[in-house]
This record gives sequence, structure tokens and C-alpha cells, in this order.
Amino acid sequence: MVTRVPGGRAASIMAALVGAVWILSGIVAGAELVAAGHMAAAAATIVAGDAGRHVAALADDAFEGREAGSRGGRAAGAYIMDAIDHLGLEPAGDSGGFYQPFGSMRNILALARGSDPTVADELVIVSAHYDHVGYGNASNSYGPFGFVHNGADDNASGVAGLIEIAEALQALPTRPRRSILLAFWDGEEKGLLGSYHFLRVRPEPLRDYRIVFCINLDMIGRLRGERVEVYGSRTSSGLRALTVAVNNRAGATALELAYDWKIVPDSDHYPFIERQIPTLMFHTGLHDNYHRPSDDVHLVNLAGLEPVARLTFATAIAVADEVAAPRAFREACRRESESSQRLLEAQAAGGKRGRWGIGTRSDAAEPQAPVVVRVSPDSPAARGGLRRGDRIVMIDGTEIVHQDDMVQRLSEAGEQVTMILDRRGRLVQVELNDAK
Ligand SMILES: [Zn+2]
Repeated sequence: MVTRVPGGRAASIMAALVGAVWILSGIVAGAELVAAGHMAAAAATIVAGDAGRHVAALADDAFEGREAGSRGGRAAGAYIMDAIDHLGLEPAGDSGGFYQPFGSMRNILALARGSDPTVADELVIVSAHYDHVGYGNASNSYGPFGFVHNGADDNASGVAGLIEIAEALQALPTRPRRSILLAFWDGEEKGLLGSYHFLRVRPEPLRDYRIVFCINLDMIGRLRGERVEVYGSRTSSGLRALTVAVNNRAGATALELAYDWKIVPDSDHYPFIERQIPTLMFHTGLHDNYHRPSDDVHLVNLAGLEPVARLTFATAIAVADEVAAPRAFREACRRESESSQRLLEAQAAGGKRGRWGIGTRSDAAEPQAPVVVRVSPDSPAARGGLRRGDRIVMIDGTEIVHQDDMVQRLSEAGEQVTMILDRRGRLVQVELNDAK
């Protein structure tokens, strides 16, 4: 039996889930500087209507496809400057301004200084590239060439989300512990030039900062079926658990998180991963209009942009406001791939599965959430609604430490156990009954 039960039970299950979320996200009540209520109010300032205005403006023909270094690209940069200038963020580019020029291109950098002097020199970056491919050519467009490629999804959507996040950040009455840098990269479509440049040549105001985490937004404007692709979750142990916790704080509005282990140099998350910095990227998926003139505003899911930007904001704040230092980079993530993911999540061969009828595998990056790889037919697990691919995170209100711990607790349990599962980024509760 899965969570969505009617009546009074739903409320108590919801309360259990909310409790689970706080435990799983490692947040000790009162230890965070940014209060939950303030967080919710700030996140609520991220709205589809405002984001939509930014997408429409950036994807207007007037910007001629925002090619890096071109007239339209520079005009788009000026638009972003204008949108963030009045927010009161600190300029973090060169010569006291927001721009970090390189060649004929320029990144735009805005800083929100952290409030805890002991960790304020640790930098959490939230980023999106603002350039696109201009009029398109054989090397960067699927055609037809010679027409303005507005790049509404790629990546006016991510930029709009980032502007909204900047506003939400400034709506918080208290800053999180660590500093947050909002970075609008130029030259992504020409080979991740802006992010590479930033990592090579740090602007003066950021010289003494250490980058501890990055979230990149690239193409978040085509949310379909509430499914968001998440890249980079394996760059640090516990990142999946963190995103699940943040994603479920809003309860019923949680998105489906499609964790993808693949790491390829297709966006600005890549240079950070190369530098061994834990990095996430959110993306709502490819489509037929990708790198074509038809990637236009009317096809953008503006209502869908809102929850993705809110998830990004909340994830950045969670990392920036954590008492503990962000976890170390996992070198192994570079060797993991889609096929290692398939191997871990593939169905296990038969054999005895104990009285509950569950087969699991341990995941090196997330040992505290064993993966269900087998549900025996007609077992308590099958009757309880457990599914292959679920990750078991809690049993009877207590977190799992490791697979062995899970096995032991299941063997010692009475006739009934309550489990909280991470099912594609959503927390669900199931009850397993072993009564004969
Ligand atoms: Zn692109």
C-alpha cells in the first residue's frame, strides 16, 4: 500500500514524511540560519509570470540569437545586467562591475556574501549560460541556417530561472552561512568558454574564495510530466539524498527526479567536475527544436519553470547554509556511466529473499539507501507496493546506515514494518505486513 491513502491516515503519513525529510537532509532544528518560513516566502517570489517575461525578452529576435561576442549577445548581457543591477547584490566581475570580459565575450557575476564569518569564504555557485548560436551554422545548428535561433529553452529558460533565484535570494531576511555567486556564462555554445575562463582567471573580488559546490541550469523550459533530469548527483556522496530531501519539503509538489550518471562536456557543469568540485545540473530534456530556429517562447513550459527554479534555489541554500562542510568530491563519478547505473539497478537473479521478499544492492555513492533490485511475487514487499528501483531510506522511522544494517533490522522486525522510499526523487511510504 502506497502513501496516497484517503482520510486521516494521509495527514499522519504526511507528517512522518516531513519528519523524514528533515532527518534525511541532516538539518538539525534551529541550527540553520535561514528559517524555514523565510525560505518558503523567498521561494514563493519565484513565479512563472516573471520568469516568462525574461524568457520572452531574451528570446526576442532583437537579440539575434545571442551569439557570444556578437551585437545580440552583448545586448542580452546588458539586459541581464539591468535585471540584476537593482537587486543589491555585489558586483563580482572585473573593475568593480558585474562583467568579467574575455575576448569579445563576458560573463556576468553577482555575489551574495555569506553570513557566517568562519565559512563565508566558501562559495556556492548557481549558474546558467546566456549565449546561444545566433543565426546558426553547420557546426552548431540542425538548421535551417541563416534564421535567428532564439534559444528560448537553450538557455533563456535557465537565465530566467537564475534571475528569479537572484531575486529570491535578496528576499531572504538572513543570508545563509556560505557565500553564493550567481554566474551567467557567455560562450557556452562555442565550447564552454565562459565557465572555463572563470575557473582559469578568477576575478579580483573572488580571489580569496574557495568554490565548494556548483549548480548549473541548462534548458529547464520543457518540463514534461514533472520529470527533471539531474546530472552530477554522484560527484559527492549524499547529494542524491540532499536533493530528495529538498524536493520533498514542499510535500505533494515534489518533482520526479531522473538521476543520470552520465558526465559529458555538454554544458558548464563539466569544467567544475574536471576541477573536482561537486556539481549538479538540472535539465528538462532534449526535444525536436533543440538548436533549431524553432526553439521559441511559445513552446516553453513557463508553469514548469517555476518548480525547477524553486528546487534549484532551495538546493543552493541548503548547501550554503549547512553547518557541516560540503562533502568531498567523489573521483569515482568520472568512471561511472549509464551502463554502471543500469548494472546497479538491474534485476537480480532469483534465490531466497527472506520473509519480506526484497532483494537489494548497495550503492557506493549512497550506501545509506540500498536499491531494490528484486520484489518476489506475492511477497509482503509486492503486496506493500515496493518496486524495483526504489531506494530504501528509512525503516520504522529510523534512517538506514548501510545495507547490512537494513538486512538486520528487517530480520529482527515484527509482523509489520513501515518503510520510507526514495522513488525517483519522491519520498513515499509503504507498509509491509508479514502476518500469516
Ligand atoms: Zn545549446
